[in-house]
Amino acid sequence: MTELVVHDAAELVVGPGDGGLERCPGGAVAIDDGAVVGVGPTDAVIREYPPENASRTLDATGKTVLPGFVDPHTHALFAGDRSGEFLARIDGKTYTEIAETGGGIPVTVEAVRAASDDELFDNLLAQLDVMLAHGTTTAEVKSGYGLDTETELRMLATIAKADERHPVDLVPTFMGAHVVPPGAETDEYVAVVVDEQLPAVAAQGIAEFCDVFCEQGVFDVEQSRQVLETGREHGLEPRLHAEEFAHIGGAQLAAALEAASADHLLQATAADVEALADAGVVATLLPATAFSLDEPYADARAVLAAGAPLALGTDLNPSCFVHSMGFVVSLACLRMGLHPAEAIRAATATAACSLDRDVGALREGAPADLVVFDLPSATHVPYNAGTNRVETVVKGGRIVEGRGGEKR
Ligand SMILES: [Zn+2]
Repeated sequence: MTELVVHDAAELVVGPGDGGLERCPGGAVAIDDGAVVGVGPTDAVIREYPPENASRTLDATGKTVLPGFVDPHTHALFAGDRSGEFLARIDGKTYTEIAETGGGIPVTVEAVRAASDDELFDNLLAQLDVMLAHGTTTAEVKSGYGLDTETELRMLATIAKADERHPVDLVPTFMGAHVVPPGAETDEYVAVVVDEQLPAVAAQGIAEFCDVFCEQGVFDVEQSRQVLETGREHGLEPRLHAEEFAHIGGAQLAAALEAASADHLLQATAADVEALADAGVVATLLPATAFSLDEPYADARAVLAAGAPLALGTDLNPSCFVHSMGFVVSLACLRMGLHPAEAIRAATATAACSLDRDVGALREGAPADLVVFDLPSATHVPYNAGTNRVETVVKGGRIVEGRGGEKR
């Protein structure tokens, strides 16, 4: 018996295709055992998988079905409240000025170190609930608010526990090299990350990726290289925060390491983007960060023109309080000149590619992660900026959010 048939969608996005996306008007998906077994025009799908033989059906008449959003860059596990910095930014303080007056990441580090395991777990579940309600079905989550071995391991254990308990699938990234803890020398701290944290993280066996904030005044290219190469020796693939505030060579490092992803790239040059394209590194752009910090946006058109794979993420963190990939897709269209098809592809299939996950497209055999929007076409997803039009979320064939879903 088929588990679920979603039928008669005004538009169904199958996955990457000509012009960015393969779109199917009047589309349907049949799901069994958590995976897509049939996809295409409703007539053809229901001939093979009649709705009367399905355990459940979802009538998507007048609605749009997309693969679930994949958010490839979040700091969704944190504690404390930095809304005061939001007010300071409104009064004209920059990210750097806030950091110089004792604000920023160290405030969150202190709160995370002081939080109990249960508090951390509850905090992460609360963020994941909002992300799921906005259509995210897979998300990367970084550590990096511990900056000592014990708390970094606690963060990663919390991510693993939340992955088991929550419908959103999580991809854990170790980011001990997020900032230098207050009072420490950078080289000394890099040695702690390399000699102490990374072996412990590898022994714990949870993290899949290793990330570094390669930035002027934080970790330079050589320090970043040392962390990422050691991470790789321990089985963690590299991804980087690169060229966000200053241009210091992070993108070229990502290319040289053939990293999974180079993220931010606000200051990346044409040569940087070419190098990423040549090395097959995913360029992950985070327009909600530029929006939140009032920075100029990354050059998404240059990334696509160079032929580099382009992904979009929220960068959800206390200074960029954005959970919605739909809003990120809107920003990518309105502020970075992406077409809806390009932006949706970047927020689904290419984001999944950077995380090495087989999601982000509704092809036969793929996990049945999809979102039903109460909107008549995929174009309307970014067109409706800042409102949540997600009606139903299906994760692994199960209705986990919205109409027809079970309460958790
Ligand atoms: Zn980040």
